[in-house]
Amino acid sequence: METCILEPTKKNILKAVEVLNSNGVIGMPTETVYGLAAVGYDSKAVKKIFEIKGRPADNPLIAHVHKDFDLSLLVHIENSYAYSLIKSFMPGPLTLVFKSKGVVCKEAVAGGDTLAIRMPMHKDCQNLLKEINKPLVAPSANLSKHTSPVTAMHVKNDLDGKISIILDGGKCSGGIESTVLDVTGPVPRILRAGLITKEMIESVVGACEIAMHKEGDKVKSPGVKYTHYKPKCDTALFTEDNLEELVKVYNNYVENGKTPYVMCKNSVAKKLGNLNFLLLGETEEEVAFNLYDSLLLGEKKADVILAVAMPNEKGVNMGIMNRLKKSCGVV
Ligand code: AMP
Ligand code: MG
Repeated sequence: METCILEPTKKNILKAVEVLNSNGVIGMPTETVYGLAAVGYDSKAVKKIFEIKGRPADNPLIAHVHKDFDLSLLVHIENSYAYSLIKSFMPGPLTLVFKSKGVVCKEAVAGGDTLAIRMPMHKDCQNLLKEINKPLVAPSANLSKHTSPVTAMHVKNDLDGKISIILDGGKCSGGIESTVLDVTGPVPRILRAGLITKEMIESVVGACEIAMHKEGDKVKSPGVKYTHYKPKCDTALFTEDNLEELVKVYNNYVENGKTPYVMCKNSVAKKLGNLNFLLLGETEEEVAFNLYDSLLLGEKKADVILAVAMPNEKGVNMGIMNRLKKSCGVV
């Protein structure tokens, strides 16, 4: 199968809808990362997503809907605080987990009784969702375990020949996956950190918990237990107060004929002098925007990426550090 990257014109959106309505799977842009989408009611198409990615069948998918979609068609909204979150953050990079009504197929929810829903903010994605007027279930459009794609070309690099269409919506403005928030209990619980932060959620609904995973626990959000976001080269993670060690390791690689790259914020690079760099920018938003692009560029240029951790895990840094630790195999 030839994989075409298509501009998101009206004609090409109709083409994508035709593929989706014929048990097909496509690559679609969102403001977080690119998704690998199928109609959520269609078991046959949803099974293809798991096959194409090599995704474990027990890892459920997020259903993406347009901004005027009636969520009560898909889920029970049991807690009134969920309405405040919907009003404040949807459309946007927030996924809410509700009790499912069972209309989205069981393969998509990995046989569970909850459904995760998101309304993407990306214009072309909204146009596609509006046109098809059905929930599109979509994980990130990469091979399982690999770094998530933030351009149409990243999707093609991973899935060439496996899907017919990738709609090109440009580089994703957010850069890391949505915050996943369980709203089935009395207090919302973050299952995966992202661009909608704990602090932002608290400012709307007062309280917000973070799901902790201890060994032996039944995992609430199965995706968090798998190897994730790994580039194809070696990786190592250093703290900002251990740059001497980083330089030692860097020089060791060079002496052994290898090409190391340091991935860090611009201000950290300034302290390090003349090395190979993958620069992440400075603000939390810039770092999120550049993170996967840098890892995917790094795997092409480097034998090893030596990454420098963020100074804390507050705000957006919580989501960034979650991805960074996993991509460096630290957790
Ligand atoms: P991905 O699509 O690769 O960004 O992964 C989606 C994330 O959302 C994974 O961590 C899933 O485990 C999580 N997720 C999706 N649906 C549910 C659900 N119904 N309950 C809890 N977590 C979910
Ligand atoms: Mg993913």
